[in-house]
Amino acid sequence: MKIDDWLLEILACPACKSPLRVSPGADELACTNESCALVYPVRDDIPVLLVDEARKA
Ligand SMILES: [Zn+2]
Repeated sequence: MKIDDWLLEILACPACKSPLRVSPGADELACTNESCALVYPVRDDIPVLLVDEARKA
């Protein structure tokens, strides 16, 4: 997965506005807020930051 660092810095969880991080070994972006803990899919290198598409970590 190719998520640029600058892009990661401006992305935020749509549910709680916390920063996101790349899930190790997975093409996903995980919310860094442990009480939120949503994981967003990345499709064709495009993060899908939709709560409806996220799963609970
Ligand atoms: Zn969140």
